[in-house]
Amino acid sequence: MNALLPSKHRKVVVVGAGAVGSTYCYALAQSGIANEIALIDKNEKLAFGHVLDLVHGQPYFPSVSIYAGKPADYADAQLIVITAGTAQKPGETRLDLLQRNATIMRAIMADISAARSSAIILITTNPVDVMTYTAIQYAGKGSEKRIIGSGTVLDSSRFRYLLSDHCGVDIHNVHAYILGEHGDSEFAAWSMTHVAGMPIDQYCPVCGGCTDWQAEKDRIEQAVRDSAYHIIDYKGATNWAVGLAMTSITRAILRDAHSVLTISALLNGEFGLDDVCLSVPCIVSSHGIEKVIESQLTEGETESLKKSASILKSANASIGI
Ligand code: NAD
Repeated sequence: MNALLPSKHRKVVVVGAGAVGSTYCYALAQSGIANEIALIDKNEKLAFGHVLDLVHGQPYFPSVSIYAGKPADYADAQLIVITAGTAQKPGETRLDLLQRNATIMRAIMADISAARSSAIILITTNPVDVMTYTAIQYAGKGSEKRIIGSGTVLDSSRFRYLLSDHCGVDIHNVHAYILGEHGDSEFAAWSMTHVAGMPIDQYCPVCGGCTDWQAEKDRIEQAVRDSAYHIIDYKGATNWAVGLAMTSITRAILRDAHSVLTISALLNGEFGLDDVCLSVPCIVSSHGIEKVIESQLTEGETESLKKSASILKSANASIGI
């Protein structure tokens, strides 16, 4: 565990050179985890421009080969990261967007399959849970452990930041997870939230820093849900934190780290749910999903997870998958 895989196995192909894909490449290059990064975009000039800009930074980060890729690069990749997608057009419904991104996802999966790739596939394109399910349906049975969505890894880090800020405790001493849909029905798993090794409700009286903890909990949970809306409103896209969250998932895969991450996984009876991709804590290794951790949730949290599952199943059905 935690050792780098042999160098020939550390090739990452990134599909989509937009705000998310290019930022991820920047973070990945600096991390030293990959030794080869191929960037693909249907806009070839964009991919090439980002590659040129990145390689000029080579003196400042560990050795890594970065180049504009092509579908043949899927064949020997250890990890394929899909960030390709389109934004909602004026007057377009969410369902139209779903359909368009599902079409893009299937086209990319067709290229991956044609290259006979056995790489782990990490999907970030939104709606990420539906896109992950689409890719697994395309690839067929047996692919569910190696096709994962970035899920609520980003949302969990937003949650940890807000808790750390509120409690005045180093974020590395805060363990907390957002579960369910990466979207409006996601929820904070308060029963799994720990500060300084203590369940948060036990830590709260020790800290004694706020007068109405329940109101603070509601505020923090809502702030996590609204984060993306605010950032998109301010600057048009979210890219920095998601790029780092994706790098953290990449580290778990390429270093075989067995990290516990709230990625989007296809459930098969866990938590009483099946045939839906959503975020729950999973052990992530070089095989993809090593294990879905069936944490003990409260009744309310279990209800919230079921609600997310039902919303996502309807979304899957609405585009005929
Ligand atoms: P963007 O529009 O900046 O970039 C998307 C890129 O995909 C474009 O460069 C486009 O040319 C490319 N593309 C489209 N179809 C393609 C295809 N068939 N093959 C190759 N490239 C193709 O968008 P962005 O801001 O980078 O966001 C990308 C996706 O990530 C969106 O769906 C967004 O909602 C999602 N996202 C997810 C999270 C998360 O936590 N899951 C966070 C942020 C953004």
